[in-house]
Amino acid sequence: MISYEEALSIVLEQSQPLGEETHRLNDLLGGVLARPVLAPHDLPLFNNSAVDGFGVRISDIASATSDEPVRLKNIGTIQAGDAPSLKLAAGSTVKVLTGAQVPDGVEAIVMQEFTATENGHVAVQSSARAGENIRWRSEEFKREDTVLPANIRVTPPVVGLLASLGCASAAIFRRPKVAVVVTGNELVQPGEPLPPGHIYESNSHSLMAALRALGCDPVAVHHAADSLEAVFETMRRALEEADILITTGGVSVGEFDWVKDAAERLEIQSHFWKVAIKPGKPVFFGTRDFARGGTCDSERGRQLVFGLPGNPVAVLLTFYLFVKPALKKMQGLAPMPAFMPKARLLSDLRKKPGRLDFVRARLGQDGEGLTVNPANRQGSHMLGGLAVADCLIPFGREESLMSEGSWTEIIPLDWSAM
Ligand code: AMP
Ligand code: MG
Repeated sequence: MISYEEALSIVLEQSQPLGEETHRLNDLLGGVLARPVLAPHDLPLFNNSAVDGFGVRISDIASATSDEPVRLKNIGTIQAGDAPSLKLAAGSTVKVLTGAQVPDGVEAIVMQEFTATENGHVAVQSSARAGENIRWRSEEFKREDTVLPANIRVTPPVVGLLASLGCASAAIFRRPKVAVVVTGNELVQPGEPLPPGHIYESNSHSLMAALRALGCDPVAVHHAADSLEAVFETMRRALEEADILITTGGVSVGEFDWVKDAAERLEIQSHFWKVAIKPGKPVFFGTRDFARGGTCDSERGRQLVFGLPGNPVAVLLTFYLFVKPALKKMQGLAPMPAFMPKARLLSDLRKKPGRLDFVRARLGQDGEGLTVNPANRQGSHMLGGLAVADCLIPFGREESLMSEGSWTEIIPLDWSAM
């Protein structure tokens, strides 16, 4: 059985960024820039004041102190939005408000707090360094400078920066269209009466929530009964509109598990089935090229198919471990170095060797630092354990004991951040 690392690298190899789309400023948040942004003009565009104060020539006020202020003639006020044409002459000063253009001849701005105004004159109580409190033209960016590289996430400061450069739109990678197919005769939607032997269907809901939290709206959720015909037909329809198809259930070795057979009939190329992890062992991954699959849509090219297990915890963890990295790469984000802080284990953990376990756990803190406490309810059908977890403890494939008090790496669980 292949390892988690091998399986993940196969998924990433098959995941390529989608095409780019131009969006207006207010629709960019959460997208990933598809091209570098170059400064259309200098920023700041003109010399302006960082404070409310008085523009001076340095030599005029070199001797100024609070005990012996220097008196300068006030020749006017420039406020933000004015375009001054005056030039400051020796022996005079001009009031310049924050963000207002600094007129020629001004070498520094003395903060209003270090001045006193007296009938047409200003007593300056402090000297100043050349350039003090002036925000110089192009000090942040020169025209044509690279302001932002490609492949970075559009966050609120990115939106603000684009706006401050006058950009009304920008190109981001298209977000993947994801379709979900849940399989199972036993499933009933929450809110409906539950016949004997049935259970409430949770996978479509948890997956939709997981997708939304990452900024991807699922295009459709389909339900299939446990027959080859139903699973095949439902997957076929779902693939008509999706870059990524996620199925849940029906992918193990049971006699009513049809996802793999349906995938074969749909000419989905299998890359792996079964990974040495727990939970989530039966996870399937395949791809379909449009040239092979029939429908021709050159923009999409290759579709990814994740056959996730049926157990609700296994679904979400395999989503987290395989689908989320694929979504990131398809959106143009470079993989981040894994952030694995260490924490002190608060109880023994035991298992059989053979699979990498992802133990659901909660972080805490005590006098010695970070602690980690395995959650109760570790079964792969027990969402209760995952619902209260904020991290995973990777319990090595060939390990069988992790002792209380030992320091272990942990994987923080973050459903929202990419
Ligand atoms: P399967 O792999 O189809 O045998 O499913 C494994 C387990 O997950 C079974 O106990 C199913 O009842 C359960 N299961 C499958 N799909 C769902 C779902 N959508 N919601 C909740 N439980 C499910
Ligand atoms: Mg089933």
